[in-house]
Amino acid sequence: MSIIQLDQIVKQTPKRTDGFVNYGQRPDNTFYQIPVIIIDGESPGPTLLIDCCTHGDEYEGTAAILKLAGEFENKKFNGKLVLVPALNIEAFVTMRRSTLSDEFNLNRIFPGNDHSYITHRLAHVYIERVVCCADAVITFHGGGKVLHLEPIIGYLPPTDDINQKSYEMAQAFNCKYTWRMQNLPFTGVSIVEYKKKYNIPCILPEVGSHCGRLHDYNKNVDICYNGSKNVMGYLNMIPDTGAEKVKDMMDVELNYLHCYNGGMQTLVKRENDIVEEGETMAYMQDIFGNVIEELKAPYKGVVIGFWSVPVIRPGDWWSLYAKIL
Ligand SMILES: [Zn+2]
Repeated sequence: MSIIQLDQIVKQTPKRTDGFVNYGQRPDNTFYQIPVIIIDGESPGPTLLIDCCTHGDEYEGTAAILKLAGEFENKKFNGKLVLVPALNIEAFVTMRRSTLSDEFNLNRIFPGNDHSYITHRLAHVYIERVVCCADAVITFHGGGKVLHLEPIIGYLPPTDDINQKSYEMAQAFNCKYTWRMQNLPFTGVSIVEYKKKYNIPCILPEVGSHCGRLHDYNKNVDICYNGSKNVMGYLNMIPDTGAEKVKDMMDVELNYLHCYNGGMQTLVKRENDIVEEGETMAYMQDIFGNVIEELKAPYKGVVIGFWSVPVIRPGDWWSLYAKIL
């Protein structure tokens, strides 16, 4: 087990260290930095890494991480918490999904490398200097600025003992939907690469949404916070939280249904709707009001999320639609 070396420490108490890992020097002599909070428990146990803002506009996990940090710096637990409240700090401060400087989407380029663009360097430095120290990982995502998403907890298909543990962490998190991350249409995803490199169990909760920021923000932050504690209970870092288990848990494979055209979209089916094959899920009008496209369900499934802005562009994710396993 490695120990995380911070390049800059901003605050240190007997239990808690706040600081930064640097991943590149800017022309003005400042650094691109990953903020890291390390909290040591009283007794031996696993190191749990919890991060957020791989995509810079997904903040519910960030708020939960800060709440966890405030709580556990004053509370006994086993092991160590490594908390990263805003992994892609440049995307975070510019409120963008991807990095402003090079336009790369961090969650498509893991494990990165140290000899090309700054986002690749971020991925590489994070894996080599922070993820290397973890025994388990929770990496928060969400709907960001343009998607509604129901809380759904991604795990790696349970093909071995470690992925079985990933599945059990997803179940322990305790949301309605668990997402078996199979048949993904893209590569370079964080938890797939962490598992490959370090053989550790990881989950990817998607919690929080564009629509939910108006009325459900605190509820979604609490889902992240309580879910993290449920996983800490599962890992024996704290006593079992005793949270009442969600009754109608559903295991799904999530698929991304893209639109062909761009226009003004209207949703017919919404979150949690069970849809029969061939039913209309949404339609699109052009700028003169003509219906130019309909989204039909390709199979019987459940709506997890959707594009939540009235205007949609050709090729955008129209529906996040799941097969029930
Ligand atoms: Zn994301």
